[in-house]
Amino acid sequence: MLEHAEKHDWKRRYLDNVEALESRERQWLQTEAFLRQGLSRLALAADGVDPGLDRQLNELRGLLRAARETESLREPLERISESVRHLGDGHAEGEPNGRGGHGLLGRLFGSGATAPPGPGAAEGRRLHIARNLLLELAEDLLGQDAAADLVHRIEQANTEVQVYNLGHELVTRLQPVARGGRYSSAGDGTWQPHEVLLRLLEHIEVPTELGGRYEYIRQMLLGAAAPDHTEEALMAIAGLVADIRGRAHKDRAEIETFLKQVTERLGEIDAAFQENVEHQREGYEEGREFGRNVDLEVNGIEESVNRSQDLESLKGALRQRLDGIRAHVREHRETEERRISDAERQVERLNDRLQSVQHESDELRRRLKEERDLAMVDPLTGIANRFAYNERLQLEVARWKRYGSPLAMAVWDIDRFKDVNDHYGHQAGDKALALIAQLIRKHIRETDFVARYGGEEFVLLLPETALPAAVAAAEHIRRAVMDSGFHYEDEPVPITISCGISEFRTGDTPQEVFGRADAALYRAKAQGRNRCVTD
Ligand code: GH3
Ligand code: MG
Ligand code: MG
Repeated sequence: MLEHAEKHDWKRRYLDNVEALESRERQWLQTEAFLRQGLSRLALAADGVDPGLDRQLNELRGLLRAARETESLREPLERISESVRHLGDGHAEGEPNGRGGHGLLGRLFGSGATAPPGPGAAEGRRLHIARNLLLELAEDLLGQDAAADLVHRIEQANTEVQVYNLGHELVTRLQPVARGGRYSSAGDGTWQPHEVLLRLLEHIEVPTELGGRYEYIRQMLLGAAAPDHTEEALMAIAGLVADIRGRAHKDRAEIETFLKQVTERLGEIDAAFQENVEHQREGYEEGREFGRNVDLEVNGIEESVNRSQDLESLKGALRQRLDGIRAHVREHRETEERRISDAERQVERLNDRLQSVQHESDELRRRLKEERDLAMVDPLTGIANRFAYNERLQLEVARWKRYGSPLAMAVWDIDRFKDVNDHYGHQAGDKALALIAQLIRKHIRETDFVARYGGEEFVLLLPETALPAAVAAAEHIRRAVMDSGFHYEDEPVPITISCGISEFRTGDTPQEVFGRADAALYRAKAQGRNRCVTD
């Protein structure tokens, strides 16, 4: 009976062992799933930073879902690191002013915009950027033909003093340039050079940390002495742009380092995983060996039963065999226990590492989102900026195309805002600007969208709204601003705004709709201001 119990016992142990191996295999599959989840999160973390990178991350996400082998993830990850390395080399696609890669920012941030070797790296870069700014300004404001000789000389300039002087020349030549027929009846209908620079400044997307310097330059250009400081302001803008570029490089380097770390860690995790697979394989071998040993003993028992003549010798033979089996079981259990505790330790280590990767990617994602949110808001008015507008516009236009529901656009401009600035000072102007922005935001529907488009211009998108309803909404806003009772230092300051409204029609591009709304705004101004006019 004892023999029978023993035999039953080792059989159970053997089966238990096989089960343990299977359970460890399940555990490994779980670890692997965890690893994939970590990578998916990482993929999410860097989302939206760059369109090219997005594409690769999407690919990676697909692979993560399908991949059987951890090894196959290494290559896409390396490609992603590579794209991050190039992030910022070509900002064309995400460019806020919508002028494509060849516009001002395209030139400034474009891959061709590396500083030529100069006296000092920073000076060289500033010179280079100032030159590009001037080139852009000259062509943009004088027209390509008129600017040809100036452009040539700007290209030849290789000291800051020369750029300074050419800036002065451009500024002088700008005086008689008409305002392109836009709705201005104020002054002599020309752009003053400092206004040109102000307009240029509006086209630059400034990270929050550099907001102070941006504001300083803006105040310099808004101040009474602005006409005397145009060259200085130009160089200051060039310096600012140089720093924005520097910052983009820093950000890029940071993400790059992070991805490199992740790739390295993935390598480590992968190596550990392979090692465990190896252990597991050894475990199986060992288990099989153990099975063979036990089989041998059992065969021996059978043989002994067949061969033995008397009970005593059978008992002796059986005892010997059972001792053998017991020894095999003990040995097997010991190696297995060692292996299991090794594997457990390793799983723990891997989990720790994965958790730290997840933590880092969560952190990076949080920071990217925070920066992205900040980059979407205009600091002066607290409403969306032009960058956010361009994003939203794309979305609404896509919806309009897909569903065919109406979409209207209103372009707003403050009336006689120069007078507000002149009579009450720029601070009063800034306050009025912020108030008007908030009033517009307060009086629109949740699905509508308003952004500060330029200095004192706003643009409003009204999805699901046809022209008559858009006019009603705009009138509502216009009256709210007129009746706001704005005061500055206890003095009432009358403020009104005008707008032009247009609706998207089949085949329209956003530029065409904006153009029509802008032309309607021009008529609103010509008809006496404080009114809304449709195209
Ligand atoms: P109109 O009724 O024709 O629009 O007259 P306007 O005086 O408003 O003329 P215009 O729109 O051409 O001029 C805009 C002025 O707004 C020029 C600039 O001095 C001022 N401005 C632009 N941005 C700002 C800003 O951020 N703050 C302040 N205080 N003034 C600004
Ligand atoms: Mg204006
Ligand atoms: Mg105005």
